[in-house]
Amino acid sequence: MQCPECKSTHIRKNSIKKGKQNHICVDCCRQFIEQYESSKGYSDEMKRDCLNFPTQCLIIHISPINFLIWRSLFL
Ligand SMILES: [Zn+2]
Repeated sequence: MQCPECKSTHIRKNSIKKGKQNHICVDCCRQFIEQYESSKGYSDEMKRDCLNFPTQCLIIHISPINFLIWRSLFL
Protein backbone atom coordinates (compact mmCIF):
# COMPACT_ATOMS: atom_id res chain seq x y z
CA MET A 1 0.00 0.00 0.00
CA GLN A 2 1.17 3.49 -0.82
CA CYS A 3 0.30 6.90 0.50
CA PRO A 4 -1.77 8.68 -2.18
CA GLU A 5 -0.07 11.92 -1.22
CA CYS A 6 3.65 11.24 -1.00
CA LYS A 7 3.76 7.62 -2.28
CA SER A 8 5.43 6.48 0.90
CA THR A 9 4.89 2.87 1.92
CA HIS A 10 5.36 3.82 5.56
CA ILE A 11 1.69 3.32 6.45
CA ARG A 12 0.04 2.64 9.76
CA LYS A 13 -3.47 1.46 10.51
CA ASN A 14 -5.62 4.21 11.93
CA SER A 15 -9.24 3.99 13.06
CA ILE A 16 -12.02 2.21 11.21
CA LYS A 17 -14.47 4.60 9.59
CA LYS A 18 -17.84 3.48 8.25
CA GLY A 19 -16.64 -0.12 8.38
CA LYS A 20 -13.57 0.59 6.31
CA GLN A 21 -10.05 0.46 7.61
CA ASN A 22 -8.57 3.92 7.73
CA HIS A 23 -4.82 4.33 7.34
CA ILE A 24 -2.40 7.10 8.08
CA CYS A 25 0.85 7.87 6.34
CA VAL A 26 3.64 8.11 8.89
CA ASP A 27 5.66 10.39 6.64
CA CYS A 28 3.12 13.09 5.78
CA CYS A 29 0.23 12.26 8.18
CA ARG A 30 -2.23 11.96 5.28
CA GLN A 31 -5.20 9.79 6.26
CA PHE A 32 -6.86 7.58 3.71
CA ILE A 33 -9.07 4.55 3.31
CA GLU A 34 -7.34 1.38 2.25
CA GLN A 35 -6.97 1.34 -1.49
CA TYR A 36 -8.48 -1.52 -3.30
CA GLU A 37 -5.41 -2.58 -5.23
CA SER A 38 -3.90 -3.87 -2.02
CA SER A 39 -6.97 -5.31 -0.31
CA LYS A 40 -7.43 -9.05 0.14
CA GLY A 41 -4.47 -9.84 -2.04
CA TYR A 42 -6.49 -10.19 -5.24
CA SER A 43 -5.15 -8.71 -8.43
CA ASP A 44 -6.88 -5.83 -10.18
CA GLU A 45 -7.53 -8.08 -13.10
CA MET A 46 -9.28 -10.61 -10.92
CA LYS A 47 -11.39 -7.88 -9.35
CA ARG A 48 -12.42 -6.56 -12.73
CA ASP A 49 -13.43 -10.06 -13.70
CA CYS A 50 -15.43 -10.39 -10.51
CA LEU A 51 -17.27 -7.15 -11.13
CA ASN A 52 -18.25 -8.42 -14.54
CA PHE A 53 -18.76 -12.07 -13.74
CA PRO A 54 -20.02 -12.79 -10.24
CA THR A 55 -19.92 -16.51 -10.90
CA GLN A 56 -16.18 -16.23 -11.17
CA CYS A 57 -16.12 -15.01 -7.59
CA LEU A 58 -17.81 -18.20 -6.50
CA ILE A 59 -15.07 -20.13 -8.21
CA ILE A 60 -12.45 -18.29 -6.17
CA HIS A 61 -14.47 -18.84 -2.97
CA ILE A 62 -16.02 -15.45 -2.37
CA SER A 63 -19.53 -15.79 -0.99
CA PRO A 64 -22.29 -13.80 -2.73
CA ILE A 65 -22.74 -11.61 0.36
CA ASN A 66 -19.05 -10.86 0.53
CA PHE A 67 -19.15 -10.16 -3.15
CA LEU A 68 -21.82 -7.50 -2.67
CA ILE A 69 -19.93 -5.89 0.20
CA TRP A 70 -16.74 -6.11 -1.73
CA ARG A 71 -18.28 -4.65 -4.87
CA SER A 72 -19.82 -1.79 -2.89
CA LEU A 73 -16.30 -0.77 -1.90
CA PHE A 74 -15.28 -0.30 -5.50
CA LEU A 75 -18.36 1.10 -7.20
ZN1 LIG B 1 2.34 10.33 2.79
